[in-house]
Amino acid sequence: MKTIAVLTSGGDAPGMNAAIRAVVRTGCENGMSVYGINRGYQGLIDDDLIELNIRSVSDIIHRGGTMLHSARCLAFKEEEGMQKAIETCKKHGIEGIVVIGGDGSFRGARDLSLRGIPCIGVPGTIDNDIVSSDYTIGYDTCLNTIMDMVDRLRDTVESHSRCMVVEVMGNRCGDLTLNSGIAVGATAIVIPEIQSDIEKHVIERIRRTQKTDKKHFIIMVAEGIGGVAALAKKIQEECGVETRSIVLGHVQRGGSPTARDRVIASEMGYHAVQLLMKGIGNRVVVMRKDEIVDYDIIEALTMTKEIDTTLYNIAHEISI
Ligand code: ADP
Repeated sequence: MKTIAVLTSGGDAPGMNAAIRAVVRTGCENGMSVYGINRGYQGLIDDDLIELNIRSVSDIIHRGGTMLHSARCLAFKEEEGMQKAIETCKKHGIEGIVVIGGDGSFRGARDLSLRGIPCIGVPGTIDNDIVSSDYTIGYDTCLNTIMDMVDRLRDTVESHSRCMVVEVMGNRCGDLTLNSGIAVGATAIVIPEIQSDIEKHVIERIRRTQKTDKKHFIIMVAEGIGGVAALAKKIQEECGVETRSIVLGHVQRGGSPTARDRVIASEMGYHAVQLLMKGIGNRVVVMRKDEIVDYDIIEALTMTKEIDTTLYNIAHEISI
């Protein structure tokens, strides 16, 4: 391939810029022309793209968000939108695309690949909810951001002997909540993958720790469960502790990527272009058992992912 493109799609994540940089530099260093497509698949439909060179991606490795912007593009799910996207590729001679995003974006990449534009998916989302990959770019940064924010909450919660119910992002995936819950020493963790009896797993746990003279509590709840305000009210009424709730929200998505995210993004971006250079498309680059490998997109989308129950059991045992 002589001409490739890169786009970011779906929810933005810290480290996407590092992945873009790796794609552009690897492509350019190997004699390819590399286009950056703005606003995900929308930019492909609107012919909104720009040719990038090695200097176009200077000074972005440490920045959160994505220099190419991201979007959710419903038109791309329709055949008409898809055909417009293909026309843009033909117009610029684009022979392959690196799609940085989540499983939704990979479905788009699969559809485009099936229509003759080979795509390589690179997992970029804070949620760690991509079924084929053990790790997604942005997860580590987000986890550390959550930990930092809840550490701050702990200072005030402790001073006032309160309980704080914290809603954490992650879509339907509880990885962020479980891991941050352990990292902040939460009294209870509620995630979609493990059915929780609120009475038994939250209320009784608080009561039990109250008996050991604990006076402040942090309860971590996944976005996929929600309802933190109602849970806070219930805790206050049933446990007699002043309780507040907070939805951490979009601040979790921003910030300078951690070293882990920068390194993995660089590795994955490089790997993606290596595949395109060999004329290989229709793959996703993933992490499996600490190794960067690639899978067929269609196969990757049918995989399933499970929560680490050992980790959940550890949290349950020691956060008391
Ligand atoms: P993520 O990639 O983070 O999972 P979304 O699910 O919002 O985020 O998907 C991002 C974009 O990918 C969508 O806005 C759409 O343009 C494209 N997309 C998602 N699902 C499909 C699909 N089934 N077919 C084609 N394109 C899709």
